[in-house]
Amino acid sequence: MKVLLKKTLSKSAKILGLDLLTGLANQRLFLPFYHTVSDDDLVHVKYLYPVPTIKRFKTDLDFLLKNFKPVSYTFLHDYVKNKNAIAENCFFLSFDDGLREFYDVVAPILVHQGIPATCFINTAFIDNRDMFFRMKASILIDTITRKELSAGQKKAVTGIFNQHNLTYNSASDLLRITDQNKEILDTLAPVVGVCFAEYLATHQPYLTTNQIHELIQQGFSIGGHSVSHPYYPMLPEEAQVKQTVDCLSYLADNFNIQERLFSFPHTDFNVKKTFFDKIRDHVDLSFGTAGLKLDLLETNLQRTPMEVPGYSSAEEIVKTEYLYFILKRVVGKHKIHRSW
Ligand SMILES: [Zn+2]
Repeated sequence: MKVLLKKTLSKSAKILGLDLLTGLANQRLFLPFYHTVSDDDLVHVKYLYPVPTIKRFKTDLDFLLKNFKPVSYTFLHDYVKNKNAIAENCFFLSFDDGLREFYDVVAPILVHQGIPATCFINTAFIDNRDMFFRMKASILIDTITRKELSAGQKKAVTGIFNQHNLTYNSASDLLRITDQNKEILDTLAPVVGVCFAEYLATHQPYLTTNQIHELIQQGFSIGGHSVSHPYYPMLPEEAQVKQTVDCLSYLADNFNIQERLFSFPHTDFNVKKTFFDKIRDHVDLSFGTAGLKLDLLETNLQRTPMEVPGYSSAEEIVKTEYLYFILKRVVGKHKIHRSW
């Protein structure tokens, strides 16, 4: 419903000027986020979201720079702490999941253009020690799609799904596997002839310790994205706190990172105010993924995903988000409220 409404709005938003939209919304700060940028076929993410090409990313940056001033996390700190009014349109750029393309592709472009950015990292995946379960699903879908399964393999896959009270009809059913039953992916892998350890060793999808040190030297800020990328709304609160605090402690201990920034893996939807109270001594600013939206907690800022199926440019996404925000405000849905 929301996706359809936004797609309808995008047609009207296209013809409107951004100045008009930011003015009407009275929102000068925009927080776009990506995961990766690549011209290669990234098997581990290609079934999760559309991967922007380098050309698309550069066009996005041109649009953002033309309409917003790039700002770093220190600007956000001051803005939140002093409740400063923002006089001109600004954007804060960030990347989630700590993927290697941030070092290989994105950082050189940003350094060249003088754009600050924050990279949010899952500490369990640094140096390719392990992998986010959704990436495992993407790799398996690719294998199953390319090579047709034998009757025996199909029977085994269906059997594994059934053991977990799930049905298997096609490869895309792997995207229904959640944090709660992610071990299915490890059971399925040998059945379809995939070895995740081998994939990690060959493709090295994540940043290494040395690359992170180098990125810090280059002036990028590093934030936490939890230890192992669990789905917070389904986690007990103590586990949410542990995932957050352990991740930030690791970054502080191993990289001497002073900024205490945290982006929620998946979503901060339904995360309670009591969680924010418990992490207050460990996190200065946190970031959600709800799009252009206000949060009653001023230290929790909502970012807009830039890898959206059916959208081919930042211009389209940004304008649609602004028009959607203006409409949400009319019905009072532009702010996230949180329960205790
Ligand atoms: Zn993530």
